[in-house]
Amino acid sequence: MEDVPIPKVRAGQVLVKIGACGVCRSNLHMIEGDWVKYGVPAKLPIIPGHEIVGTAVAWSDDVTSLRKGDKVGVQPLWSSCGKCEHCLTGKEQICPSKQITGENVDGGYAEYIVANVDHVYHVPRNLTDSEAAPLFCPGITAYGAVKKAGLTPARKVAVFGIGGVGHMVLQLARIFGAEVIAVSRSTQHLKLAEQLGASTVVDVSRGDSAEWLKGIGGVDSSIVFAPSSQLAQLAVKATKPGGTVVMGVWAELGELPFVEEKNIVGSVIGSRQDMREVLTLASAGRIKAICQEFKLEQANDVLMMLKRGDVRARAVLVP
Ligand SMILES: [Zn+2]
Ligand SMILES: [Zn+2]
Repeated sequence: MEDVPIPKVRAGQVLVKIGACGVCRSNLHMIEGDWVKYGVPAKLPIIPGHEIVGTAVAWSDDVTSLRKGDKVGVQPLWSSCGKCEHCLTGKEQICPSKQITGENVDGGYAEYIVANVDHVYHVPRNLTDSEAAPLFCPGITAYGAVKKAGLTPARKVAVFGIGGVGHMVLQLARIFGAEVIAVSRSTQHLKLAEQLGASTVVDVSRGDSAEWLKGIGGVDSSIVFAPSSQLAQLAVKATKPGGTVVMGVWAELGELPFVEEKNIVGSVIGSRQDMREVLTLASAGRIKAICQEFKLEQANDVLMMLKRGDVRARAVLVP
């Protein structure tokens, strides 16, 4: 923990006084150096954190969309070029020139952050900063994945990993009408999945889950947020021929049985429109991020808790 100057706004930017910032597993990966091979972080030292809600307190003269005291949020996509084929087709999250909050630029484990006004979102007043913060990574990430999974009321989806993102995937998959099977190796996460309406929970730490999933005839779609190659391979096996596996983590998928025509789709965050829709759903009470509040000073302890698997859904740091 150290004192740094309050960042200055440039053209098109806003200064946000942070009210809450979620603690993401990807922060832990970056801090532990797991992602140096992917060029993350892009600079050092860096302030981590990319699911941020706070109050707009100052902005550059060219900004017209904000009023003093507006409640705003910042997601992992800190900026995108606005000109490439992906930016022009509503897929700015795969812009090759994108910058990620807390990886390329300083993030939210702090009291203040500077954000681009094109990438900040008005947060509905009926959400507190702490309950809204996880919408800005688990929420949008879950929504992006669920939209790619081809869910309908008659379909079964297996959700692999019920942590910060998984517990949002589960709620969103139910909004799409699908029957949800939760797969995890954590008893407390499976308990949470039951509370959130999973029709079945599968504890991979016991018995042969692959056989079990085959026994029910497989699933139409799988969504993987467990950072485990073993579970990713199980997801591919559990998915019916012609079905869809949405991958939201790095994992080894093993040999793909091409004759079964399974679709493997990567999913990262979501678009800005997806973010707005997630906020609408949360404001209407249709999804809810379950969070635990901690003081910003406890950041290191919270990261260790996350590493040990002791965080139930989402930890948020409050300055
Ligand atoms: Zn995240
Ligand atoms: Zn672009």
